[in-house]
Amino acid sequence: MPLDHAAPPQNIGDTKPRDAIIIGAGFSGLYQLHCLRDRLGMRVEVLEAGGGVGGTWYWNRYPGARCDSESHSYCYTFSAEIFREWEWTERYPGHAEIRRYLNHVSDRLDLARDIRFNTRVTACRWDEPAGLWRLTTQHGEELSARFLITAVGCLSTANIPKIPGLEAFRGDWYHTGTWPHEGVAFAGKRVGQIGTGSTGIQAVPVIAEEAAHLTVFQRTANYSVPARNQPLTSEFKAWVRDNWAEIRRVTQSTVNGHPFMIEDRSVHAVSDEELHAILERAWERGGLQFRANFRDVLLDETANVKLADFVRAKIRGMVQDPAKAAMLADIDHPYGAKRPPIDSGYFEAFNRDNVALVDVRADPIECITPTGIRLRSGAEHALDVIVFATGFDAMTGPLMALNIEGEGGQRLADAWAAGPQTYLGLQVAGFPNLFTVTGPGSPSVLCNMPVCIEQHVEWITDCLGHLRALGLERIETTAEAMADWGAEVQRVANLTLLPKVPHSWYLGANVPGKPRVFMPYAGGMARYRQHCAEVAAKGYPGFIMEHGQRAAAE
Ligand code: NAP
Repeated sequence: MPLDHAAPPQNIGDTKPRDAIIIGAGFSGLYQLHCLRDRLGMRVEVLEAGGGVGGTWYWNRYPGARCDSESHSYCYTFSAEIFREWEWTERYPGHAEIRRYLNHVSDRLDLARDIRFNTRVTACRWDEPAGLWRLTTQHGEELSARFLITAVGCLSTANIPKIPGLEAFRGDWYHTGTWPHEGVAFAGKRVGQIGTGSTGIQAVPVIAEEAAHLTVFQRTANYSVPARNQPLTSEFKAWVRDNWAEIRRVTQSTVNGHPFMIEDRSVHAVSDEELHAILERAWERGGLQFRANFRDVLLDETANVKLADFVRAKIRGMVQDPAKAAMLADIDHPYGAKRPPIDSGYFEAFNRDNVALVDVRADPIECITPTGIRLRSGAEHALDVIVFATGFDAMTGPLMALNIEGEGGQRLADAWAAGPQTYLGLQVAGFPNLFTVTGPGSPSVLCNMPVCIEQHVEWITDCLGHLRALGLERIETTAEAMADWGAEVQRVANLTLLPKVPHSWYLGANVPGKPRVFMPYAGGMARYRQHCAEVAAKGYPGFIMEHGQRAAAE
């Protein structure tokens, strides 16, 4: 199967209402299609803006783009067969390998025939009398379906800061989340990179290798732990094949869906020597497991400080220039309270002669000129290329872009004007038959994505199966259930250090004008899974299930 699709799917031109339309052909959309079509026998179509499967990974092809989850856990586990027949090559999967994997799954399950590629949805409107969602695409096509399932990802709407002068810049500029498929040639170029989040930290060492010069514009210094990526050994690959059930059990029972448990010990329960030895070993092992050595890293500021100080000392030890080291280690938030990056040579890259670091917290970017970036102080940085590693309008951005209108023409943008509200991250009152896979209010971005995606997709599938068994066609959560769940989302977030970072995208703070509401559910994936299972077992309290055409039925 080609990785990009130009030909329309077989069912194009057929305008009969589908049972369900899914928007997005990434991890969520592909599995949701399989579940609804092949398990429930529904008539389903997927609409996908990209020219191939992959979702976020279809667009994120920036230098160094690689998943921070370990490859044997960054995949579907619903089928032991599919799990075993795919062999990952490295500890962390690169973007191209993830696309190959998703294409393999798509081929294996014959999914592409029901995916309409190169089709961006521009509007979704609930038609109450018909009991249907009516969708419009960028090509002006109109499609309808009983159920609408958004599988649009949480980090798929690029956040490009509105810096004056960009339109007059004479060089080239790119956002990491919409990277050109053919790549970007940096050789001989003076490159400026804005942003030092997980993405920027991955990109710096790779761009630095190729560019004549790289200037990194840092607003907030960031922690990072070495990824220690490496090719997987044949022993490890065999272990993975033999341990599908155990890997699935662990990823489904941990707080954030990774293939390791969080140690049940407090930072305060060990001596300073023991702490240092544990952290040294964890540093050598590398990866996100670093924070899993203690249970209270994100709960207790005094515990967190000890890890934070350890990482700061490591940064100072790696970066030779004391001025750069001080700037990189001057981190203003607790370790892990923003999404903790992992890296492959990020801090070491600042030891290269061709890499400069500019503190744009102290001296903010004033404007982009035709030839580079000017700071408030008047300092000018001449550039041929600007790379925006400036993140995403996270969680709500991709949903807002769909221009969703529910009952009575109510816009989702208005319903969420004060911040997103959902029940379980799955449904919004006033928007019947709409399900949001990994929506705000679900663990989503605090979890290893495929793990929470499988849970959401399976829950939605079971729910639709239940509805059908009852002969019903309409489901909508209640304002009360949504308010209670919203309070629970804020309650559990406030037990952690996560909402204490004022500039975190978890709070929407990276997008000017976005309401400051802590969006993901921080109570842990395992607890969330259990809660959702209980809701289903009790007959779906918090949801109203009815006959499809309410107007006709009344
Ligand atoms: P991000 O974490 O939001 O980081 C954006 C960076 O851009 C921050 O350093 C931010 O500074 C800076 N920035 C934004 N606007 C700016 C401006 N006007 N001037 C100066 N600096 C500005 O975005 P991201 O790095 O793309 O990561 C987003 C999320 O994607 C991650 O947290 C992670 O969940 C996911 N991700 C995952 C992987 C992976 O698994 N491999 C890789 C990359 C990303 P401030 O901090 O001061 O706002």
